Amino acid sequence: MSTTIGFIGLGIMGLPMAKNLVKAGFTVRGYNRTPAKAQELAAAGGEAADSIAEAVAGAQFIITMVPDSPDVEAVLTGDDGILAAADAGATWIDFSTIRPDVAKDLAAQAKEAGLKPLDAPVSGGEPGAIDGVLSIMVGGEEADFDAAADVFDAVGKTIVRVGPSGSGQTVKAANQLIVAGNIGLLAEAVVFLEAYGVETASALQVLGGGLAGSKVLEQKGQKMLDREFAPGFRLALHHKDMGIVTAAAREAGVAIPLGAAVAQLVAATVAQGNGGLDHSGLLTVVEQLSGSGDTAADDTASAQETTAQEGAA
Ligand code: NAP
Repeated sequence: MSTTIGFIGLGIMGLPMAKNLVKAGFTVRGYNRTPAKAQELAAAGGEAADSIAEAVAGAQFIITMVPDSPDVEAVLTGDDGILAAADAGATWIDFSTIRPDVAKDLAAQAKEAGLKPLDAPVSGGEPGAIDGVLSIMVGGEEADFDAAADVFDAVGKTIVRVGPSGSGQTVKAANQLIVAGNIGLLAEAVVFLEAYGVETASALQVLGGGLAGSKVLEQKGQKMLDREFAPGFRLALHHKDMGIVTAAAREAGVAIPLGAAVAQLVAATVAQGNGGLDHSGLLTVVEQLSGSGDTAADDTASAQETTAQEGAA
């Protein structure tokens, strides 16, 4: 009998990750708040569950991939949540990006209920999720991490345990700081190059071969030139993550001046109603600062997906 995984949250990241677990031979029971996405998993060889309880009962591994700290908390501790339905001894892997202090607290609650918690936020974006090559930074007990190797291998390529519960989220906060800074400077470079009428595609090609090269430039450069901002990684989520890293840095007594500036740019983009765009859409605000561009984002259908709730995330 194959190992069963209960998978909660089949969004941009969760669905392709769940599909890769099916491909790797796991029995994957997926639950999604909006049921249609669970049907997509069923069409790919998984099973669609109608409730969290149905997804997790009897599963050896339970995975969550939802947006924010309150969402993970609700899914874990709610009346019909994971803790109420999971078998003792199951491993709970949270791939969501949430606050490190919340991750630590929820891990303690999960342990108390007999689960083995691992906070395991990921990096690599939607392409990394589809290709099963995510970077995964894991916090939790070493034995639990080792025992989950087959699950991690099915969705990731660089998989590292970085310490006890909550540590994975701390490393992910640093990841989001670096990525946002990269995107901000790439956006400034694009506006700068366009102001000089430089052949921008050629410029990004040569920049990519030197020290300015980066995964951000590879994955986001052309999208910025094309003003193609369908997510990807929604700015509302990066806004959440900049809140996490600025608060955690303040708590630690550490100054992150560049990060704080980028956090303001991300906040401004979200406040303008563009939280539903990919984070490369930060370009829209950088353009406005120089009086260039045409707030192209307003034309993008995904901008309309931004809800007041996301704006506040
Ligand atoms: P997403 O596309 O918005 O998907 C989120 C999923 O969670 C959706 O299926 C949503 O259900 C579900 N959900 C939301 N709130 C819920 C709740 N309270 N209870 C139950 N289910 C809930 O987001 P995503 O891009 O996959 O991101 C998921 C997590 O991964 C976030 O923490 C994000 O920061 C992180 N992350 C994302 C990326 C990326 O490139 N996208 C990369 C690395 C890490 P509905 O379908 O009903 O809305």
